[in-house]
Amino acid sequence: MVPYDLNYQGRADRVGSCSRFLVDQSVRVNRLLKESCCCSRISVTVTTCNLTTNIMKNLLSTSRQIFSSVRLGSSSSRTQSAVPSTAPGELDTFHHKDLKIIEATAEQRRPKPDVNSLRFGHNFADHMMEVNWTAESGWGRPEISPLHNLSLHPGAKVLHYAVELFEGMKAYRGVDNKIRLFRPDMNMARMRRTAIRSALPDFDSEECIKIISDLVRLDRDWVPQSNTSSLYIRPTFIGTDPALGVGHPNEAKFFVLTGPAGAYYPTGFQPVSLLADSEYVRAFPGGVGQFKMGCNYSPTIMLGRLAAEKGCQQVLWLFGEDEQLTEVGTMNVFVYWTNEHGEEELVTPPLDKGIILPGVTRDSLLELARSWNLEKERFQVVERYVTMEEIRKAIKQKRMKEMFGAGTACVVSPIGRILHKNRVTGQYDELIIPTMDNKPNLMQKFYESIMDIQYGRMEMPGWTRVVS
Ligand SMILES: *Cc1c(COP(=O)(O)O)cnc(C)c1O
Repeated sequence: MVPYDLNYQGRADRVGSCSRFLVDQSVRVNRLLKESCCCSRISVTVTTCNLTTNIMKNLLSTSRQIFSSVRLGSSSSRTQSAVPSTAPGELDTFHHKDLKIIEATAEQRRPKPDVNSLRFGHNFADHMMEVNWTAESGWGRPEISPLHNLSLHPGAKVLHYAVELFEGMKAYRGVDNKIRLFRPDMNMARMRRTAIRSALPDFDSEECIKIISDLVRLDRDWVPQSNTSSLYIRPTFIGTDPALGVGHPNEAKFFVLTGPAGAYYPTGFQPVSLLADSEYVRAFPGGVGQFKMGCNYSPTIMLGRLAAEKGCQQVLWLFGEDEQLTEVGTMNVFVYWTNEHGEEELVTPPLDKGIILPGVTRDSLLELARSWNLEKERFQVVERYVTMEEIRKAIKQKRMKEMFGAGTACVVSPIGRILHKNRVTGQYDELIIPTMDNKPNLMQKFYESIMDIQYGRMEMPGWTRVVS
């Protein structure tokens, strides 16, 4: 536990200004969390003076939504005794022990589709999980029940201000018939950071993973019997208050859907073509690109169509005057080349500016590559920005080996071609990336290693969690 002291010096009689102060601080605390990677919780002491009991109570409940553990200190002994301090580590969360399960009846259960003809995201398992939160009474009881429509007031915040965030993870049926989750703790940590940035309440990762495990176990027959398919898991969090106005959500719903996902490469790797047009930006410093918030994705949909019209499957997202590569579609991007100093290098953009989504796959590939380097491979693993100009030059000088995207859906996705819009002439230049021809293929080695871990053929301590 890292202590973090906040000293609120705004008007002591205004809960609103104090809450805003806490939200601002949460961004700083988040940065601290990221930097000190060894701790996942921070205890906070808010020092204020002359708060009334009521304001103190409100403040405590607001700050509990933001921080894992809060202690309110005060220069006034009267208010100090009015609100007992919270024990360190205590977090307002929903609990696995409160989980209520309503199983689908035989009639409610649907036939399972053929895994060879699945369209991603179109099939859902029989059950879902839901838990509601209100500012007044905190988290409710989590419930697993048959998949059903939601009933929302048309004024719900999610429908107007996109108070929404999500996660994407998978359950894999291994060669030993055990069902595993892959690094779910990383998805939960990301989701909690995103919830805090969305002014939605925090929750406990472990309680959530236990509930998701129960959901997967209940629908275990939906996890395909195949070493290339999986059960996709979509935790989602939305603001639901029936009130217009851009303000703190006072009501929220957390829910989890699951559904079978077919093999990403039924006929082998398919290299993708990318449209690179720096007129469009996915994320920017100070924005929310590093969070899986729905609001990051809706503006990209139109670009997908533009790309398709140009014969491309994905968008290569660029940033800045020098056209730095940031991401590919909804994947992180990797470049494997010989750099200008003649050294072999694996490069991916860093997380420092908040414009890159911190992918679980990205992190796993970096970790694998670094561990291989300790053994015998001899290439550098670098997190830095790469510009379009550098890509061009590397291709011209025959230094480019591979480029690929990385994400949960596909693990890796080879890039074969980039259609780059020239900002001066408006013309498109075609860049051919020799990813599929590079031997031995680093991307393929990553793919096989990650799949081996996910399907239980290889052990990576702490990376998988057996649920059934
Ligand atoms: C989800 C996502 C990724 C990949 O993250 P994983 O955790 O590896 O699935 C990369 N970029 C964007 C924009 C994403 O939304």
